[in-house]
Amino acid sequence: MAPTRKIKCDCGETLQEKEIELDHILTYAMVCPKCSFTTLTKDQAKEFRKRIEFHKAIDQEKQVIRIGNSMGITFPEKLSEFGISVGKKVKVEAIDGRSFKVILA
Ligand SMILES: [Zn+2]
Repeated sequence: MAPTRKIKCDCGETLQEKEIELDHILTYAMVCPKCSFTTLTKDQAKEFRKRIEFHKAIDQEKQVIRIGNSMGITFPEKLSEFGISVGKKVKVEAIDGRSFKVILA
């Protein structure tokens, strides 16, 4: 995803690709290290749009349910559009005392 051409900021510095949080969504952007001017390339904007759609599909409040002798949470069917399907392996990892993440393989 690294840009092949350099983009100069009005302040004279060269923009650098960085992962930033934009509207609460982590995304890659071109950021000026001097004045913090931020912009997206066409590819970064495409990826950002994809991540917005992913957030729309997954971000919600869920209730823990009983599945056999285990507890579980369900994922919406819409996630299949993002390559997640029944039988697919995921990795579950604790973040802190109150949250964990599900990493898609
Ligand atoms: Zn600048």
